[in-house]
Amino acid sequence: MNQLHLSTSLSLADGSRRLSQSSPSPHTYLDNRVTKPQRENKRTRSQRARERLQTKQHLVGLARGLHEGELADKLERCHSRLSVLTCGRHIARIIPNFTCEFRLCPDCGRRRSRKLQNKYLPMMRGFMLHHKVTPVHLVLTQTHRKENRKQSAKRIKDSLTRLQRRGFWKEYFKGGTWSLEFTKDKNGLHHTHLHIIGFRRKFFDIELLRGEWLAATGDSHVIHLKKIEDIAAGLREVVKYVSKPLDIRRFGADDLKEFLGLKNMRMFGTFGEFRDFCKSFVPSDNDGDEVSELESLARDLTEGCACPKCAAPLFDLRLSSDELLRFYEGIESAPPGKVGTS
Ligand SMILES: [Zn+2]
Ligand SMILES: [Zn+2]
Repeated sequence: MNQLHLSTSLSLADGSRRLSQSSPSPHTYLDNRVTKPQRENKRTRSQRARERLQTKQHLVGLARGLHEGELADKLERCHSRLSVLTCGRHIARIIPNFTCEFRLCPDCGRRRSRKLQNKYLPMMRGFMLHHKVTPVHLVLTQTHRKENRKQSAKRIKDSLTRLQRRGFWKEYFKGGTWSLEFTKDKNGLHHTHLHIIGFRRKFFDIELLRGEWLAATGDSHVIHLKKIEDIAAGLREVVKYVSKPLDIRRFGADDLKEFLGLKNMRMFGTFGEFRDFCKSFVPSDNDGDEVSELESLARDLTEGCACPKCAAPLFDLRLSSDELLRFYEGIESAPPGKVGTS
């Protein structure tokens, strides 16, 4: 009930009509989507670290089952030993021994999503300064059919291309980014959808866009749109689907096999005038400070330097991924002000 209410008020905040109630299941899905980021933020660092470990162990098990020994070994090695620069209460920097760069690896996914944020946030800010545009987060879905992941992804990307050729789209959108997210419905059919950060030239009624998407897909009208108030937060939300394109804990061996066949599929891209803008963009010295300030600061830190958060001296710890998890738990359970290194 609360979720439906939230979704409706978000739509109304954008001045659009109430969501159509004709097909309740996809809407419920979208409503969950909107509230999920808020739930995720509530999880502690140790909980998220534990989930990453479990996801990884699950992937390793699947890879071994498929006789993908090399992949399993790489995943096991990735982030297994860590050099942690800490004051005992805060972590200034973590350097992993090895990164596997496998697309479904949750640790490498986090790194990749941070890189994308560092790269695109200055460009988005620059683009918004140059053009009078409003960023919106748009979710485009398609009907579920009996098809494989590749066919499902191609179908929705082709629909996006058709949408972008339409006069409506050109009139109202100046460009943006897209990313793919894959889930499955309860019948095991692919539910592939697109998350778009669109730079809107001017306001339009969401029902117009719904009709345009129906024309582009032939049979899908389920979309969701909300205005992005804070572009850094909006970008963070969208690149999350790049780092975590699907729910791996519900993944079976067949899913992994299918995914391994998708090696070169693009999951993120830019379009329209924003795409051209990115090609010619030269970052200034100040660009990206907000995202990477802590990271660039941390790069210069060594043992004995003052912790950026509390000024206590930093020291180096060599930890395994399990030990890092317990270290997080120690920090979280320590009373405020007390150093928890034991
Ligand atoms: Zn990795
Ligand atoms: Zn500190």
